[in-house]
Amino acid sequence: MGLLEGKRILVAGVTMDSSIGFAVAKVAQEQGAEVLISNFGRALSITKRIAKRLPVEPPVLDLDVTNQEHLDGLADAVREHFGADATLDGVVHSIAFGNPETLLGGKFLDGPWEDVAQAVQVSAYSLKSLAMATKPILAPGAGIVGLTFDATVAWPAYDWMGVAKAALESTNRYLARYLGPEGIRVNLVSAGPLRTIAAKAIPGFEQLDAMWSDRSPLGWDNTDQEPTAKAVCALLSDFFPATTGEIVHVDGGYHAMGA
Ligand code: NAP
Repeated sequence: MGLLEGKRILVAGVTMDSSIGFAVAKVAQEQGAEVLISNFGRALSITKRIAKRLPVEPPVLDLDVTNQEHLDGLADAVREHFGADATLDGVVHSIAFGNPETLLGGKFLDGPWEDVAQAVQVSAYSLKSLAMATKPILAPGAGIVGLTFDATVAWPAYDWMGVAKAALESTNRYLARYLGPEGIRVNLVSAGPLRTIAAKAIPGFEQLDAMWSDRSPLGWDNTDQEPTAKAVCALLSDFFPATTGEIVHVDGGYHAMGA
């Protein structure tokens, strides 16, 4: 029996088959879950094509996490696919955006507030938005899992996205505090650098890529999304019933090394 047998999971933030969200949806299906995926705007048609590459083609929802109408309609959209009384056992937040032209790749000192505000809204505040939008249909014991890139230190090139990730990590802890009494767990997976569209858009991100595999005691394959996806699915499963507000590193051990 699979780790997620009988569970229903929404994976928000799938564009390509390189997306971490795609790998999560794949592992979740392999582990017995029924999955819905989402993306927004112009890339929705790409997501619909890519969805056919999953073991079972999932429904694709249109969800812009900054659009209140989309958030207000999310519970109904999920019920439309899973049934009128359906609940969700898991929600995956695999979403981030920061304008690469103004905020990343050495632009830290000049990053304009409007773009920083957008990065924080899309990449951090949206974890709260997504949690609240799905809360009416979350099953007892449900898990919410997001993706971060270690925000405890300053990286080359990552700049304002690092600040947005620090906000995400704090949002994770506060959500754990406020939703724990209702039996909802909220956790993050902190992944090492992976060659996705979002990562390729960061000017200078290859500097991180290059040093990662040398310093990680387990080594690091920046083209393999599966270890990260497996950790997300483990956190969604019943095997972490007493874990919330946590950040699990899936980075080859990089974060624990001094040099
Ligand atoms: P990705 O494939 O580009 O996924 C990011 C997703 O966020 C895309 O589907 C993107 O849609 C979506 N998105 C952006 N703005 C949105 C909005 N307003 N509403 C809804 N969705 C929106 O890149 P990824 O690397 O898999 O990123 C997934 C998560 O993992 C992110 O939180 C990222 O920071 C995190 N992470 C990545 C790495 C890495 O090295 N790749 C490492 C650690 C953590 P569009 O494509 O349509 O813009």
